[in-house]
Amino acid sequence: MNNDFEQLKERDERSVCHTYGRYPLAAAQAKGTRIYDPTGREYTDLLAGVAVVNLGHCRPELTQVMANQAQKMVHVSNLLYQEEQVACAEKLLSTCGANKVFFCNSGAEANEAAIKLARRYMQKIKNKDAFEIITLEGSFHGRTLATLAATGQDSLKEWFAPMPQGFITVPFDDISALENAISPKTAGVLIELVQGEAGVRPLSPEYVSALARICREKDILCLVDEVQTGMCRTGKFWAHQHFGLKPDIFTSAKALANGLPIGAVLATDEAAKGFEPGTHGCTFGGGPIVCAVASKVMDIMLDKDMAERAKKMGEFALSLFTEVKDEFPDKIHEVRGKGLMLAIELCFPGKDVWSALLDKGFVLNLTQGNVLRLLPPLIIEKQDFTRFAAALREVLGG
Ligand code: PLP
Repeated sequence: MNNDFEQLKERDERSVCHTYGRYPLAAAQAKGTRIYDPTGREYTDLLAGVAVVNLGHCRPELTQVMANQAQKMVHVSNLLYQEEQVACAEKLLSTCGANKVFFCNSGAEANEAAIKLARRYMQKIKNKDAFEIITLEGSFHGRTLATLAATGQDSLKEWFAPMPQGFITVPFDDISALENAISPKTAGVLIELVQGEAGVRPLSPEYVSALARICREKDILCLVDEVQTGMCRTGKFWAHQHFGLKPDIFTSAKALANGLPIGAVLATDEAAKGFEPGTHGCTFGGGPIVCAVASKVMDIMLDKDMAERAKKMGEFALSLFTEVKDEFPDKIHEVRGKGLMLAIELCFPGKDVWSALLDKGFVLNLTQGNVLRLLPPLIIEKQDFTRFAAALREVLGG
């Protein structure tokens, strides 16, 4: 570890709140699928800033849009009409079955807004005393108080009591548990189709179709958190498109503007009736720079069929990881994934493996203590996975 790094680390510890378990790595530059430390050492990015830079770092077309828009108009407020925001909403809607968009700045804010929309729709528009949101064990929906209350991981809620009321967590992928939890107070069910923080856990197709049926029969809302799974990550533009699911409300953030802060709630015309002027808002939401960039992101993703690329590359990566698993059956418990949302679950705590891989120049995430989670930029190349698999073999064999 060089002196400059130690100094930066010390300054960080002195001046920045200690909310993150940082990696022993400082990033000075990033381009495409590579991150460079201040000494110029190259790392292969298999994390994409946690599923954010899906089109790679500093993509020139996006940098250009950013720079142009920064010279034209940066912020005027949501009290004025803005071409960039409307165009971005139209583009978003062209990718899915939703009819209306609300813009904000992050995943948590998008989920918070989705929860507010669900409650207000049920109470004001449907005239029901329904407010409860059912979520699943292992889920992660954000760090604001309401989205934390919605999150199905008790450890994250410790010492933040009292939690906002109106959230119930039910076991993952358990249809009867879901049916039993529904009451006249239920406003909707909020799910991730592939749980990210929980270690890349996909819901079964049976569960998803039962969920759709239950929401229809009980006249409650189906809400999908696509903050991590959206934007071509899982091999479709939106993960719900794998299942033919038509959510009443779903959320996006992370990769939508490839690194600029943005969040979006997408709703059907019916569900969107829950928001009327003055009922919700966001100062920075839908600003011209992020919206211009997000529109360009979507253009590129559609033009280059990034969803198909994610699907194919994900299959390639999984086949490589399966070979490694077969060589080390007592070390790798399972490899799984959808598109480029990938996990290698180890049979033991994975800190040392994760750390050795970082030493070998691969940036990825360790979640749940033993799951190596890979969320690479969707532009990742096959040889990057081949090099990673070789490094993993070395680490596991060493
Ligand atoms: N929902 C999901 C599924 C996420 O993975 C995350 C972040 O990891 C969030 C919500 C929260 O997003 P943000 O950190 O932008 O608030």
